[in-house]
Amino acid sequence: MATPTKETSLETTNSMLATTLALFDSTFERLQLDEGIASIMRQTEVEMTVTIPIIADDGRILTFKGYRVQHSSARGPSKGGIRYHPDVDIDEVRALAMLMTLKCAAVNIPFGGAKGGICVNPAELSMHELERLTRRFAKMIAPILGGKRDIPAPDMNTNEQTMAWFMDEISSIQGYYSPEITTGKPVILGGSEGRTEATGRGVAIATVELLRKLGREPQGARVAVQGYGNVGYYAANILADEYGCKVIAVSDVSDALYNPKGLDLAAINQHVAHSPGRLLKGFTGNAEHITNAELLTLDTDVLIPAAIENQITGKNAGQIQAQIIVEGANGPTTYEADLILRDRGIHVVPDILANAGGVIVSYFEWVQDLQFYFWEIDEVRRQLYKKMSRSFEEAWAMAQERNVDLRSAVYMLAVQRVADAIQKRGYVSAGG
Ligand code: NAD
Repeated sequence: MATPTKETSLETTNSMLATTLALFDSTFERLQLDEGIASIMRQTEVEMTVTIPIIADDGRILTFKGYRVQHSSARGPSKGGIRYHPDVDIDEVRALAMLMTLKCAAVNIPFGGAKGGICVNPAELSMHELERLTRRFAKMIAPILGGKRDIPAPDMNTNEQTMAWFMDEISSIQGYYSPEITTGKPVILGGSEGRTEATGRGVAIATVELLRKLGREPQGARVAVQGYGNVGYYAANILADEYGCKVIAVSDVSDALYNPKGLDLAAINQHVAHSPGRLLKGFTGNAEHITNAELLTLDTDVLIPAAIENQITGKNAGQIQAQIIVEGANGPTTYEADLILRDRGIHVVPDILANAGGVIVSYFEWVQDLQFYFWEIDEVRRQLYKKMSRSFEEAWAMAQERNVDLRSAVYMLAVQRVADAIQKRGYVSAGG
């Protein structure tokens, strides 16, 4: 058999894809994975690029580029969000699809990985234009979608309304109600209870599991959270309310609040609920106003970056005082920073495990849709806890066994699971 060369794989200058491929390569090496299997995993299974025309409200025809990439279906239907952003391009979508494969494998849910997106600034479109864009995109990529084939979800600048339109469009093509075609839908259309809080709840669970492994109970542990949006809000509040942690700092794009004795989250939540854009700006309660940069290097036990990517870098990793970092956001730590943190013995729960609560509850949504039987919120929370804590336990055991950091351990677990599925399915040896 000819050995596949890297020339047949994706090579790129896109930094996210390059970083993802580098992470894959170092994991393949650690696992001493068969080169052919590695070559399959370095590439995407299916890619579809479409030009989406819509009629604008003023009668003009507008066109947009849209993408759907399925990286792997080895472990089940491919799964991943759809984002609307002017920076969306094929390489970014490829990288995100690969990370979805790993995330689903890391928490052992029976999905492969996919991602999609449209290169558009949604703020420039009216609601009607967005609906036409979404429906046309859904129609164009419908041939490669399906509840047992590829299941989209919301991502950046898309939401449960987007998923409701998507589901409606595909259902009308199929001729019957098909809620399992997307996740992240409104509860009234087959969405799951507990989906909104799921990612933050998963981050909280990962934090508590790691604290306990390090011999600490969560009560009184000091926590700083960067980003007080969906993920940061729920992570902070669940850690404080359910586990007795002391949240000493939170921030968003407008401000950063700090009180070493513990913030009054109820007062902050009250402020945010009535502030334009749900921002912290203008909070006058008992807290010092610091910068986002200062928050990252505070004297704290736990740091949860839950805002955007590339926040912990080669420049500030040396000053981080937290013993534990739990990555709520995707890619908040650069490769360079990761090496520094590792050297300094700081424990990092990597994004593909820490923020997997969202895709886990998406999996529960899909299961409920297929059965047309819907769970109570307590059941969703119970099952999420089970999945997150078990996945954390497996990652911890792998890290101990192979004497590696948690990020390397999670990548090794995930890649091995995908490789095993490829091998066991035998679609390589069967030769079609
Ligand atoms: P969100 O838009 O609800 O919240 C983002 C928060 O970050 C906001 O408070 C915003 O003000 C703040 N922020 C933005 N730029 C900032 C900056 N430069 N400095 C400090 N704060 C800043 O988004 P979200 O859904 O909470 O997602 C946050 C991160 O978690 C993203 O990386 C996202 O990809 C990741 N994530 C989200 C989910 C989910 O289910 N929502 C799942 C997996 C991963």
